[in-house]
Amino acid sequence: MNFTLYLSKALSLSLSLSLRVIETFGDLMSLVTLTHHGRILGLSLNNPPVNSLGLALRHVLYEALQAAFANPEIDAVLLTGSAKVFSGGADITEFDKPQARAEPGLMTLINLIEAAPKIVVAGIEGTCMGGGFELALACHYRVCSTAASVALPEIKLGLIPGAGGTQKLPRLIDLEAAFNFMLKGEPVKGAELARMGVVDHLIEGEFVQGAFDFTALLVAQDKPLTRIRDRKVDYPNHQAFLDFAKNTVKTTAPHYPAPLALIESLEAACTLPFEDGMKAERKLFIDLMGTPQCKAMRHAFFAERSSSKIPDVADDTPTRPIQAVGVVGAGTMGGGIAMNFLNAGIAVKLIDTQQAMLDKGVATIRKNYENTLKKGKLSQADLDQRMALLSSTLDFKDLGDVDMAIEAVFEDMGVKEKVFHQLDAVLKPGAILATNTSTLDVNRIALTTKRASDVIGTHFFSPANVMKLLEVVRGDKTAKDVLATVMKLAKTIKKTAVVSGVCDGFIGNRMLEHYVRMSVLLVEEGASPAQVDQALEKWGMVMGPFRMNDLAGNDIGWAIRKRRYVEKPQVIYSRLADAICEAGRFGQKTGLGWYRYESGSRKALVDPVVTDIIDQYRKAQSIAPKKFTDAEIVERTIYALINEGARIVEEGMAMRASDVDVVYLTGYGFPVFRGGPMKYADEVGLFQVCASMKRFHEASHDDFWQPAALLQACLVNSKSLT
Ligand code: NAD
Repeated sequence: MNFTLYLSKALSLSLSLSLRVIETFGDLMSLVTLTHHGRILGLSLNNPPVNSLGLALRHVLYEALQAAFANPEIDAVLLTGSAKVFSGGADITEFDKPQARAEPGLMTLINLIEAAPKIVVAGIEGTCMGGGFELALACHYRVCSTAASVALPEIKLGLIPGAGGTQKLPRLIDLEAAFNFMLKGEPVKGAELARMGVVDHLIEGEFVQGAFDFTALLVAQDKPLTRIRDRKVDYPNHQAFLDFAKNTVKTTAPHYPAPLALIESLEAACTLPFEDGMKAERKLFIDLMGTPQCKAMRHAFFAERSSSKIPDVADDTPTRPIQAVGVVGAGTMGGGIAMNFLNAGIAVKLIDTQQAMLDKGVATIRKNYENTLKKGKLSQADLDQRMALLSSTLDFKDLGDVDMAIEAVFEDMGVKEKVFHQLDAVLKPGAILATNTSTLDVNRIALTTKRASDVIGTHFFSPANVMKLLEVVRGDKTAKDVLATVMKLAKTIKKTAVVSGVCDGFIGNRMLEHYVRMSVLLVEEGASPAQVDQALEKWGMVMGPFRMNDLAGNDIGWAIRKRRYVEKPQVIYSRLADAICEAGRFGQKTGLGWYRYESGSRKALVDPVVTDIIDQYRKAQSIAPKKFTDAEIVERTIYALINEGARIVEEGMAMRASDVDVVYLTGYGFPVFRGGPMKYADEVGLFQVCASMKRFHEASHDDFWQPAALLQACLVNSKSLT
């Protein structure tokens, strides 16, 4: 017989504390649902959306478990979650709050289960992460569904599992497999979990019934209360493996302390009694919590979550349905943008001015999918399904039924205005008109239509089907529901969206301009492009500025600078970058740029011709080259990002400093262990950051180096930026 009881029933089985719990937690009694199958009690976590192990749930679960253990009519307990999620682990809203440390803590629950007088089985159907999995590891047996998805993802926050994961997993499965599982932090699916020995039984049919049947069988066969903690790590010559692992992570992840801590903790599991290993894990966990890398990674995690929140747009703002999208311009960006929607099952109509352009665009999309298919990451059926959602046309009238049109034509105001005029004429009422412009004024584009409130900027990054960042540009007249719709759509197409106001370059490129400007000035003054790149790459940037410019095309920056020389003559640029372009060195696409590239290779090779161009330029400008340390290079370039980022926040072009960090982390290869430029400024200390900026100002008379008002205000008020 199946029936659900509220906790009050469970508490009536318990002898103590029940009233206090009800008083303390009010109406939270339904956090655990009880189901009786004969003499087996099902305890199902019921704390949507992800069954996070917050204080209230921990309390209720503790009481329910105690009651079950004390009840002579119960032989075994089956602990489950919902069909979608067993438990997502710790409640992240409790991070850094007293609730996180309040009893009963996760370890108390784990200890309670491990001391249980009767069998406890974990039934994992759906997602099971972090602390949720550590709870399952405390159980005597584990079963899972084929759809189960289990991970210990702490490494992604700069941590290691802290509730026994590192001590128990190597006692349960192969040491090497346990190491890789925790080092990657990626979810592993049901069948693989069974193969690895993480679970005792894989249920392929109806899950809950199967889990109860399995538990009943254990009871019937009088199976022992097996505890992982009582086992020993069984791995021949563990020390050789751990030494090898140590050397590997030292070279592959030199900036991250967590992988080394993980190995140390695994070493403790191999060599120490269980309780001592637990103490070692705890200490390593706490030490990691205090590292700047962990703080930065946690900041990055929360920053990304908060970037979708817009203070003046309520979460429940109604959104417009988007089932079909028109993409105008079948070039580099248009094709990539289209793929995002096709991947998400949204129909796309591609439009261009000539059939040849359309054919090329469609062929590129197909080729991209075929490459993914060859790598085994896409099935033929998926490829066919995606291509079937794609159609193309030369006639704007065919866009009459799309819910949104995204323009990705040439970066020219005249061309864009014409396209928006055409879109305005054919799109149905309520359709959203978006532009992918990188530099043009979205407000001006909006005013070419009779529906400026339906116009918005969607600034994708190249390659648009790969890069996670999407800058959503909010025009002066953009309607709130248009903004809410696009933010929701960004989630559907798996982008990280950050809202930017209308300004030149929006958030990312506006900051980048000064970063690149300072990089070229450093070379003018005496550094080499390779030294600047290497200093920044050693510091953690995925790619130095000169390699990046060679990849993006030096001609793009050149065109922008020519405009700047007229519009903003006060900004100090080195003309060295122009000399590189004047020599026809546009980067990888011409085989020559700041470096030279051999045919078919992306490897940047130092070119004596560039060294010569630089020498001649310095001579012509009477510049005596100076020597720079790597630290000086990092300061000058990264502080440029900080100053412009702070100005962007101060002007309200970014909603919060952490949004600036998200832009740099997801779109510009900024190292996650440094948390983004704003977080890094806080980590260095604003006093020191401002002092260096003032020093740069004195030396260069470049007004850019006046510290942003926001930095000075935070400094004076002892506040942090993030
Ligand atoms: P592209 O030259 O590769 O493609 C532009 C396409 O638009 C061409 O196929 C062209 O035929 C078509 N087109 C031109 N006028 C048209 C019209 N009136 N109607 C329909 N189609 C027309 O350019 P791209 O690199 O894809 O850039 C497109 C836009 O995206 C630009 O605004 C650019 O600034 C922006 N952007 C580019 C990048 C990048 O890295 N390439 C990154 C972000 C944003």
